[in-house]
Amino acid sequence: MNWIAIRFFGCLAIGVAGFLKVIVGPGPSMDDQIAALSWGTAGCPGLAQQLVAWQDQLLLNHWEFELFCGPAESKESLLLGQVHRDREAQAAQIWIRDGLTIAYQQVVLVHELAHAGVAGDRWWVPHGRDEEEYVEELEEVLYRRHRAAVRQKMLQAARLRGSLPASRPLPQVRYLDQPEFLREVRTRASSPARTPAAGRP
Ligand SMILES: [Zn+2]
Repeated sequence: MNWIAIRFFGCLAIGVAGFLKVIVGPGPSMDDQIAALSWGTAGCPGLAQQLVAWQDQLLLNHWEFELFCGPAESKESLLLGQVHRDREAQAAQIWIRDGLTIAYQQVVLVHELAHAGVAGDRWWVPHGRDEEEYVEELEEVLYRRHRAAVRQKMLQAARLRGSLPASRPLPQVRYLDQPEFLREVRTRASSPARTPAAGRP
């Protein structure tokens, strides 16, 4: 092969590579891929561990919680979480939206636990205040005050799981989208003693 042919095929190869790059695009960088991963959960990992630690820290161990997690009804929906409470039975079902960051899910979990705590007289809504508004403030106070202790509890629990039989099994997290969750709790709400569901807008 002579020099002219090498130059010709060399230029041709560069031309084709450039053309493909324009058509296919450079593809997301590793940083972009990692950022995308850290943006949203898929399948609600770690939620059961968070519930156990927060429930203990917020002194709500006498309540029985069931956890549900899944997509919202649509991408446009602003609903991040929802709780259905039964004051008499001291039981609640909590739904958390999948696809948020883990930290965001944790804040939503604290918010829904605060609603349960209000139903269980752990906290009282001041006279004349709206529960939703009050719980939003409470959620922030509780999250800031307790997150470090909750993290320690989660670390401790993780170490114990590795060496000892778990003293308390982790709750199941059922994967349901929000309309399915509503249908599930409405089916159960046929008994008269249930309090209405409280949503988080
Ligand atoms: Zn709320």
